[in-house]
Amino acid sequence: MPWLLLFLIGLAIGSFLNVVAFRYFPEESFFCNIKKCTGRSKCRTCDKTLSWYELIPVVSFFAQLGRCRKCGSKISWQYPLVELAGGFTFLLPFYFKAVPELNSVFLNSPLFLWLFSALWISIFLVFILIWIIDYRFYIIPDELNIFAGILGILLIAENYFYNNFSQFGNGSFVGSFSMLFGFRQNIWTNHLLGMAIGFLVIGLIIFATRGKGMGFGDLKFITALGIIFGWPDVVFLLAFSFIIGSIFGIYLLIKRIKGFKDSVPFGPFLILGSLTLMFFGQYILSHYFKIFGLF
Ligand SMILES: [Zn+2]
Repeated sequence: MPWLLLFLIGLAIGSFLNVVAFRYFPEESFFCNIKKCTGRSKCRTCDKTLSWYELIPVVSFFAQLGRCRKCGSKISWQYPLVELAGGFTFLLPFYFKAVPELNSVFLNSPLFLWLFSALWISIFLVFILIWIIDYRFYIIPDELNIFAGILGILLIAENYFYNNFSQFGNGSFVGSFSMLFGFRQNIWTNHLLGMAIGFLVIGLIIFATRGKGMGFGDLKFITALGIIFGWPDVVFLLAFSFIIGSIFGIYLLIKRIKGFKDSVPFGPFLILGSLTLMFFGQYILSHYFKIFGLF
């Protein structure tokens, strides 16, 4: 059962990401923080060093009913959720294998699938870290944005080498709709344009709101996402992020959790927008156009 093995590896990696995120402090560089991740894990309230059976991903959390065995303080839901996110991330190769547009490429070269999966898994792991850190500190570390950008460049290089224009077959995550937007002669110029458009849109928002709506972390993150997703995918990614962000914002206002002047970290919404585009983009667009009787 290779999927179970991958899932378990993913759970363990997710567990490690929790440690990285919880020991992160904005005052230090990201890599200094990574060095601190080697010590034994402790309860964040009573400082009890945790034994191996308290560190089993997901299982320990539920076996202990979400509480520390010594002091009884609540353990954050972040632990099992991030571990599960890591587990599902490692199932991506099976998802890619099931995508018909990618099948012909995979059949010609098994190595393509391995590289493709490794790059996307790495991108998803960076997403998980950015999500937690932005949520907690309203910061997206530069190192993570740079790493995401590099992964994007490697992904373009792989697709270019295998003559596979974009991530999924000859289209994009919105499928044949991308043809309407042009710039499909060269994958490098396409993703360069995606980067520029993402930078411009968020840059203009920061300029117009004088930095109250979004920060420079978001600007750097959308630049990396533009490299990864290209044109016109970055536009749909932004649209999905804004729609999801607005729905969530209205919910917070109605529930009076936040007021009009409070800010909410936008990184998680950019990630939700990316995932929506990747897994449902083509589906949403084809249904959207059907409603208007087009195509
Ligand atoms: Zn405790």
